[in-house]
Amino acid sequence: MNSRLSTSSGLPDPWDAGPAPRRRSVGVRIGSGNAAVLAGGGAPIAVQSMTNTDTADVEGTAAQIAALARAGSELVRITVDRDEAAAAVPHIRDRLAKMDCGVPLIGDFHYIGHKLLADHPACAEALDKYRINPGNVGFKDKWDKQFGLIVEAAIKYGKAVRIGANWGSLDQELLTALMDENARAPSPRPAGAVMREAMVQSALTSAARAEDIGLGRDRIILSAKVSNVQHLIAVYRTLARRSDYALHLGLTEAGMGSKGIVASAAAMGILLQEGIGDTIRVSLTPEPGGDRTVEVKVAQELLQTMGFRTFVPLVAACPGCGRTTSTVFQELARDIQTYIRDEMPLWRARYPGVEALNVAVMGCIVNGPGESKHADIGISLPGTGETPAAPVFIDGQKAMTLRGEGIVGEFKQIVEDYIERRFGGAKSAAE
Ligand code: SF4
Repeated sequence: MNSRLSTSSGLPDPWDAGPAPRRRSVGVRIGSGNAAVLAGGGAPIAVQSMTNTDTADVEGTAAQIAALARAGSELVRITVDRDEAAAAVPHIRDRLAKMDCGVPLIGDFHYIGHKLLADHPACAEALDKYRINPGNVGFKDKWDKQFGLIVEAAIKYGKAVRIGANWGSLDQELLTALMDENARAPSPRPAGAVMREAMVQSALTSAARAEDIGLGRDRIILSAKVSNVQHLIAVYRTLARRSDYALHLGLTEAGMGSKGIVASAAAMGILLQEGIGDTIRVSLTPEPGGDRTVEVKVAQELLQTMGFRTFVPLVAACPGCGRTTSTVFQELARDIQTYIRDEMPLWRARYPGVEALNVAVMGCIVNGPGESKHADIGISLPGTGETPAAPVFIDGQKAMTLRGEGIVGEFKQIVEDYIERRFGGAKSAAE
């Protein structure tokens, strides 16, 4: 037998494995109408994002929420840090309604959430979920009272609550108690392990307290964000083992650009593959004046490349090498990706299922025809020394060859014709 073809290891065939089964958490319904999201309970993993506008600025905040929702954010969190912000929330909701945007809104409360919710009932009503950080609800005997007031508001208005512990604002009393206990233990654990335990306990004991007050388990989501990849994985594995609450996943303070993307994808990719995480956020720091919706695209791409959801047709492109002497294929890959992204709002309505399309743009004959045959539509551009012709493959078969200056435009038209042919039928049938 050819040893290269042997599969006799006795291990399950990894090619049959697919994404891990989802952890079965309690489902939490957030929002109302068509835009409502079910987090957990077997529902698809939802994409969340957060604004960075001053919430008191109604127009600016509504515009950014709408942009995030258009980019695909299914839940949007906004800061509610003072009276002016709380007073603006119902106006933001109204403004969004005029834009036909019903995306569920999450209010992010720290320190005075209990007061803001009591003083601004229209804000409490307009939000779909309240986020509480158990590390800064209040201290000592004030904690119980102030935490209770927020939970009671959630019960009164029928809202969900995220209990979101954070490494940077960990419950100091709890941490100190656990550190003292650890110091007295015969074999003390490393300080990092004790901090992780404090994160988990902070989230779980707060959730238990919320249930004692009367908030349903199907109204509670937990998160425990840290900025270190290995700690995040450890904390969420523990949370998932100890409870069936829905979990919101994210690496806090992930950072800028590729660093933030890589760190978030590394941490969340492992957890998602283990079935852990019901909603996700990629907490990227944008460039000054940069596009806030990038974090939504990254979250979608993470879920799509892992095979959990499909949002937008993917373009596979080779990296290029010494066989490519021009930038034509890089430009074509970029143009096709941008073109697909730009057209998606229209295509999504007109061509149901189009998000599953695969396109390949390849740089030469080495892998070009093979990769192109695996895609729904692929083009293999000529490398150095090759005949200046670009074969196009459709559904695995060579369909035509493009030549000359107009390759980009012609290939876009081929993609559009294919989409109309393959996905246009569903719309015609529904009409
Ligand atoms: S497909 Fe061709 S151009 Fe692209 S990386 Fe491979 S060898 Fe290089």
